[in-house]
Amino acid sequence: MYLYRYLDMQLNEYMNKKVTAVTKRIVFLGGGTGGVIGALTLAEAKKKHGLDLEITVINKDEWHYMPPLWMDVAIEGLPIEKTRAPIKNLEKYGVKVIVNEATKVNPDERNVELADGSKVEYDYLFLTLGLRNGWEAYPGLADEGYHNYDPDAAQEFHKALMAFKGGKVTILVPEVPFRCGIYPIEFATVLGYKLKVLGIDAKITLLSPKMPNGMDITWGLGPDIRKLWGKYMAKFNIEVKLHDGLERIDKEKKVVVTRNYEEPYDLLVKVPPPRPPKVLEDPVFLFEHDKRFVKARPRDFRHPEYDDIFSTGEHSMPPVGLGTAGVFVHAATSKAVNILLEELYGVGEVHEFTPVACVAYSGDKGFLGVCEVEFNGQMYTWQKCYNVMESFAMKFVKRSFYQGWLDKLRI
Ligand SMILES: Cc1cc2nc3c(=O)[nH]c(=O)nc-3n(C[C@H](O)[C@H](O)[C@H](O)COP(=O)(O)OP(=O)(O)OC[C@H]3O[C@@H](n4cnc5c(N)ncnc54)[C@H](O)[C@@H]3O)c2cc1C
Repeated sequence: MYLYRYLDMQLNEYMNKKVTAVTKRIVFLGGGTGGVIGALTLAEAKKKHGLDLEITVINKDEWHYMPPLWMDVAIEGLPIEKTRAPIKNLEKYGVKVIVNEATKVNPDERNVELADGSKVEYDYLFLTLGLRNGWEAYPGLADEGYHNYDPDAAQEFHKALMAFKGGKVTILVPEVPFRCGIYPIEFATVLGYKLKVLGIDAKITLLSPKMPNGMDITWGLGPDIRKLWGKYMAKFNIEVKLHDGLERIDKEKKVVVTRNYEEPYDLLVKVPPPRPPKVLEDPVFLFEHDKRFVKARPRDFRHPEYDDIFSTGEHSMPPVGLGTAGVFVHAATSKAVNILLEELYGVGEVHEFTPVACVAYSGDKGFLGVCEVEFNGQMYTWQKCYNVMESFAMKFVKRSFYQGWLDKLRI
């Protein structure tokens, strides 16, 4: 009996060693904020601990972009090259890069199908695909207006702004949440400043969905940051109008038609309705309570039915209680990667979210905002947000931070 148990234990130990000795294939689908930070975190752990890992990033185009800089493209004319770096340069960190579009994820077969018909097998998959601009959600929205939610559009926007002679600028937020939780207000104040510098006579109106207690989209940011925005809205004479839902854009009449009023425009600036990446538009992945997003378990960002899939892209932030912004994607991906490193090799540095900091523009200045979030055992919950520091220097801090991020892939 004892001999049998001894042999059984030896066999188990041998099998375990064999299992851990097998190379683990970890694939990041999407080489944006989440994919890059996740792959680099794993690559560092691999080097430090000598782990037997194969790390792959699949990205549909050859560039890794830093979207916050597209505001500088649209308003200041920053060259698009300054907002991106070649994704292939991740290879110098020991990460395999595949530049191709994913067309299907097969969780039961543990593979991802690519546009060229090939398949990439994985042991663990991270979904870091960001959100899609869902212009098709409202009639007329795709064909009218300017935005800077993709690189080409940001450049078009700059040309339109330089040709703008003045009049009515309408900034339309069709629905909440939207990509990057503070963007429309940040953009409105920066545009207000730019138009003033250019000496263009314009009136900016921000159309916000009506939030609880009859408030606007600054509702979730807390009184301190609302006060800061309020100061700039007043300074640049930006009016905020609440709407009960967008119906359509009437291109002929140049009006935004909402359920409770029609708003004219000379220059329309639009914020995209958030929609899931096409490749995840499948009940297996869609969050059943709000199909604009992709499901994830708040505890560890895993798919509820597939333990080998983590979903930490912007598409999965609202389902876990976090905001749609790069700072949350960054924190979520770091946590999930460390959970995996701990489970596989006992080397993860798993930590809960510390307050999440974000540097943003405010008119002619910039500020450092902090949001405290807490995991209550079920979900992440907002505690409070506040403005830590506001100054001209913060504008440069923001630019330097993003350029420094891209420099990791520029060598
Ligand atoms: C104008 C703007 C300003 C912003 N400002 C801020 C800010 O100040 N602070 C902040 O924290 N956040 C900001 N954000 C939000 C931030 O950029 C995103 O939250 C973050 O980039 C999301 O990370 P992600 O990894 O989920 O997706 P992304 O960074 O969007 O990357 C997704 C990647 O997946 C690739 N991809 C998509 N589909 C496929 C496919 N089928 N196959 C292969 N590859 C695919 C894309 O090419 C892309 O590289 C801003 C966003 C925008 C658009």
